Amino acid sequence: MWDSIWINAHLATLRLGKYGVIRRAALAVEQGRIAWIGARADLPGEPAQLAREVHDCEGRWITPGLIDCHTHLVYAGNRAREFELRLQGASDEDIARDGSGITSTVRETRDASEMELIRASSARLKNLMDEGVTTVEIKSGYGLDTATELKLLRVARLLGASGAVTVKTSLLGAHALPPEYQGRADAYVDLVCAEILPAAAEAKLADAVDAVCDSGSFSAQQTQRVFAAARALRLPVRMHADQFSDSNGAALAARWGALSADQLEHSNEAGVRAMAEAGTVAVLLPGMHFFLRQKQLPPVGLLRSHGVPIALASDCNPGSSPSGSILPMLNLACTLFGLTPEEALAGVTCHAALALGLGATHGTLEAGKVADFALWNIEAAAELAYAMGGNPCAGVVKRGVEVHRPD
Ligand SMILES: [Zn+2]
Repeated sequence: MWDSIWINAHLATLRLGKYGVIRRAALAVEQGRIAWIGARADLPGEPAQLAREVHDCEGRWITPGLIDCHTHLVYAGNRAREFELRLQGASDEDIARDGSGITSTVRETRDASEMELIRASSARLKNLMDEGVTTVEIKSGYGLDTATELKLLRVARLLGASGAVTVKTSLLGAHALPPEYQGRADAYVDLVCAEILPAAAEAKLADAVDAVCDSGSFSAQQTQRVFAAARALRLPVRMHADQFSDSNGAALAARWGALSADQLEHSNEAGVRAMAEAGTVAVLLPGMHFFLRQKQLPPVGLLRSHGVPIALASDCNPGSSPSGSILPMLNLACTLFGLTPEEALAGVTCHAALALGLGATHGTLEAGKVADFALWNIEAAAELAYAMGGNPCAGVVKRGVEVHRPD
């Protein structure tokens, strides 16, 4: 007998990156895994005789639990004042004089207690879970010193401790230059490689290592030093690449076998081809693109023609994507980047799972995979990308157990 069975539902399985619709379907769960999936008419008996619990979905849709594979959601404070100042006409110098910008987030995050960070971050995480998210990646990167980077990763681990959402952490020490290292980027990279990375690895707080490689951030050479240190600690890498200029970031990420290369607005074809060969996933961030009113579109046509899986993420962060919301990213990816609604949904399910190294267990509805899924009050899967706002999520199921129902 199965533990539970979910009937009277339409499924978007997302197998092979397609909707993979099964209408009038049934989905059975055994020990937290999907045990059986198919048309209800093909069930080998009556639901009540096959499973201890029967859930009638009343014609709702079920998709894999959504996966937000790129967030910076653990931070203190916010940058609403800076947003307002800019729209009142303040210059970069005015903003700097006001003490705003990333430095203000670093200062507030260093000053915040773990409890304060948990409170602020869990509110943001709840928003994501309300929208069907069952797995989230969380980066450090607002500490920029050993103690605070570890504090952020500990908070991220605690956010996942209840099991209602899976949290994968990335150490992003190489996010920006902290104020005390201005003009001494190489010395800061030394600190990241020699102290922050080993400390995070020792405490088992990092599932991956991230770096920002771009003009105005860390150079290719500095990024490679961080990646070499990660490799020595057997940690996979991912990378913020080519946001403001073509710095061959996509190719660099591929050369290091990165799980993902993220942003990619200015990436070139050789880099995209290298990503395809390396199996590096492209993570696009339409919220940031929108918020910063960027003009250069990511090379979606090249990613498609070379067969690079495209994932989408909220990029939840106070400076360039103050959004604790994943569903609007599907709409923005379609309207701004020209993705199809099917590609957008794949971007927050199966392809996002690949970006986190979870492709074998998460991201699609298939027998044997972890039974993480979301229920939706929709008539067709495309509605998830079509709607601008609103939340049709009717419930979130984690390892076969309903853990969350939006208010
Ligand atoms: Zn980011």
